[in-house]
Amino acid sequence: MSFTIGVTGGIGSGKSTVARAFAAHGIDWIDADDVAREVVEPGEPALEDIANHFGPGILTDDGHLDRRALRSIVFSDEAERRWLESVTHPRIRERLEAHLARMAATDAPYHLLVSPLLLESDQHRLVDRCLVIDIPETLQVSRTASRDGVDEEQARAIVAAQMPRQERLAKADDIIDNSGDADDLARQVARLDHLYRHPHQTA
Ligand code: ATP
Repeated sequence: MSFTIGVTGGIGSGKSTVARAFAAHGIDWIDADDVAREVVEPGEPALEDIANHFGPGILTDDGHLDRRALRSIVFSDEAERRWLESVTHPRIRERLEAHLARMAATDAPYHLLVSPLLLESDQHRLVDRCLVIDIPETLQVSRTASRDGVDEEQARAIVAAQMPRQERLAKADDIIDNSGDADDLARQVARLDHLYRHPHQTA
């Protein structure tokens, strides 16, 4: 039986980077963002519901979801955003639960659920411990801007719309400070890997 560590943090904090560092210790993970993309792929019932609701203009020529068009609708319309979530969230949750059940049934000591909305949604109920990846907001902005090729103002707006840093930290069981370099991160991950493998010892 393997237990579930929820990994979360703001945009550009390093959630995927941390997941890869745990993978180097043989740890499996599922990324809620990947699952969220899967449930609206062509052929999925959620995409059919979305096309029926918003009309065929919400699809690209090759039948994929036009994410930019959808974002611009739900960004300015709270009721539409709620409707969209009512269609996608139960399906995301169902798949996450299936992935987690599969990983829980292995001999691994633990596995990860990586999710930007772990604390904002009810996904935190799916995990045994919550690991928050923390960096100062200035670093969040600069790393996001350089990774996504967006300007810093856009990155700052996304950071400002997310859960405040202190609120997130207050909900953490464990914290990784990812403001250092790759070696510093690897050391912190190794320490936590030891803790999660030997939960009855103190770190
Ligand atoms: P998102 O929420 O947008 O999916 P994320 O939290 O998964 O982002 P990553 O994609 O892992 O964040 O990291 C954001 C960027 O910062 C990437 O370009 C990554 O290579 C870089 N990065 C992560 N950790 C470090 C570090 N310790 N030092 C320097 N750069 C880093």
